[in-house]
Formats: sequence, C-alpha cells, structure tokens
Amino acid sequence: MDKDARIFVAGHRGMVGSAIVRRLEAGGYCDLLLRTRSELDLTDQSQVFDFLQSEKPDFIFLAAAKVGGIHANNTARGEFIYENLAIEANVIEGAKRAEVDRLLFLGSSCIYPRDCPQPIKEDYLLTGPLEATNEPYAIAKIAGIKLCENYNAQFGTHYASVMPTNLYGPNDNYNLETSHVLPALIRKAHEAKARGDGELVVWGSGRPMREFLYVDDMADACVFAMEAGITQGLYNVGTGKDVTIRELAETVMEVVGFEGDIVFDASKPDGTPRKLLDVSRLQSLGWSASTPLKDGIARSYADFKQSISV
Ligand code: GDP
Repeated sequence: MDKDARIFVAGHRGMVGSAIVRRLEAGGYCDLLLRTRSELDLTDQSQVFDFLQSEKPDFIFLAAAKVGGIHANNTARGEFIYENLAIEANVIEGAKRAEVDRLLFLGSSCIYPRDCPQPIKEDYLLTGPLEATNEPYAIAKIAGIKLCENYNAQFGTHYASVMPTNLYGPNDNYNLETSHVLPALIRKAHEAKARGDGELVVWGSGRPMREFLYVDDMADACVFAMEAGITQGLYNVGTGKDVTIRELAETVMEVVGFEGDIVFDASKPDGTPRKLLDVSRLQSLGWSASTPLKDGIARSYADFKQSISV
C-alpha cells in the first residue's frame, strides 16, 4: 500500500481504531479518513453509502463495533447483535458499491465454539455451539467474516478478517459494568489500594484461562496484514500464551502495588473455560506479538492513572 493511499479507519475513537491510527501515522501514512460517531453514524445505511461513495478510500480498517465485557454482552444482547450487524453490513456493502478494493474486518476470538480444542485454529469456526454469554456478539462477528468471504467470491473484492484475542491498552473502557476483565482489575486494584481496605473482588472462580494482547501489537498486526497483501481469509492474532484469571489478578496487583487479598465472587459467570488462539497462520507470514503481559499492564495502568487525573 502506498504511503499516500487513502485509508478509512472506522472506529478511530475506540481502543483498537485509535491504536491503528497511531501505527499508521508512525508508518508515514498521510491520508487517513476519520469520522466521529456524530459526523458519521455507521449504523445508518444511507450515511455510510454516501460517505464511501464520495470519499472512495483505497483501504478500510473496519474496527468499529459495539464491544464490552462478559456482563455487557450477556445483558445488552439485542444491542450487541443488531448494532454489530448493522455496522458490518453497511460498511462492507458500502465499500463494494464504492469499489473499495481492500478491507480488513476485525472480529473476536469469541467467534469460535465454546468447547473447541486448544489452541484454537481458524478452521474450527462453525464446528460447534458458541459460549452463551456472548453468542449475540459472536453471531454478528461471524456474519462479518462471511460477508467478506462471500463478497470476495461473488464480487471479486479483497476483504480479509483478523480475529484478535482479548485486547487491552490505552483508551480501554474502565466502567466496571461494561468493561473486560483486565481494565476492571486495574481499576479495582487501584481503588482498593487507595481505600486501603485490603480486598480485590474478582468475578467467577478465577480458573478460566484467557490470552491478552496489547492493543498496539494488534494495530501492528493489522498494518502488517495490509502491507503483506493479505486479501482474503481469516487470521488469528494473539500472543500464543494464556494465564488464569487468578494469575492475571496477581500480576495486576504487582503492577499496581496492591497487597491485599483476592476474593472470588461466585455469583458472576466464568464464561468460556479457555480461549487460546493458534497464531501460527499469521506467524508463518512473519508477524508475532512483542509486548510482554506485565509491560503491557504497566503501560495500561499509566494510561488509566492519567485518564483519571484529567
Ligand atoms: P470474556 O473473555 O468474553 O469472558 O470477557 P471478560 O474479559 O469480561 O471476562 C473474562 C473472565 O474474567 C470471565 O471469567 C470473568 O468472569 C472474569 N472476571 C473476573 N473479574 C472480572 C471483572 O471485574 N470484570 C469482568 N468483565 N470480568 C471479570
């Protein structure tokens, strides 16, 4: 992709989209198309079609989505399926109509069957039932992958998909009701330390295993996919390593400097027992993650402290 290619980053205010923008700017890309939600509502078909038709980008990163942690996914179930389907359908169909040749769709590791073999290969998609807590979101993301695949087959587009594992980093959501586990634990450990009350409440049993990827590594993988000319198919993006939620809580406590006890709240769901991605497909093309978990948590904690001080 030329450095003066016109690149639309859909969702550039979000954690992933903003990291993609940072990475593109650092890489010398100078013609980025960015629109806030009030400027362009991606769930509105005619707005999206008109925008793409008039701007005609060369490449689209489809990083816009309604996202959230286990509780948000499990409760706002209708919103998760509808908004994600609407965004994907509008942007992908709009891209095809505006003759956008290349697009990278961002999914999620929750698209894979709940009980599939570990580590999870791309080929396990649609081989078994999904985890119930995030099934609506997963169904929408699977539809996005299938839109790309079938538009390539019917219309000759070059739309590929990347499936990140659990992401974290700057611009994360620290709202305890809607966040994922890592930002939640950073905030809870920070607040417990400040209160000096000695307890970090961790949802579920602490036994589920999760893999965590620093968002700047994800952005690097997305730009790698663009530059390497990945034009179709599905690529997992992760570190290839996972930890238990208990281990994660212990690492967060070390980074935050909180020395109290961990208390498990069994009234909250565990979700999928394990979801470790097999990352060999992207690795075989030359990409791998570079940020160790503890370093990434330290950077995220610095970002969190800055966000609450302003
Ligand atoms: P998931 O990967 O889709 O299940 O999403 P989450 O990141 O929200 O949750 C991952 C795991 O961390 C689940 O087993 C949660 O029960 C557990 N967990 C522990 N404490 C928390 C918390 O404070 N917030 C969230 N969101 N999850 C937590």
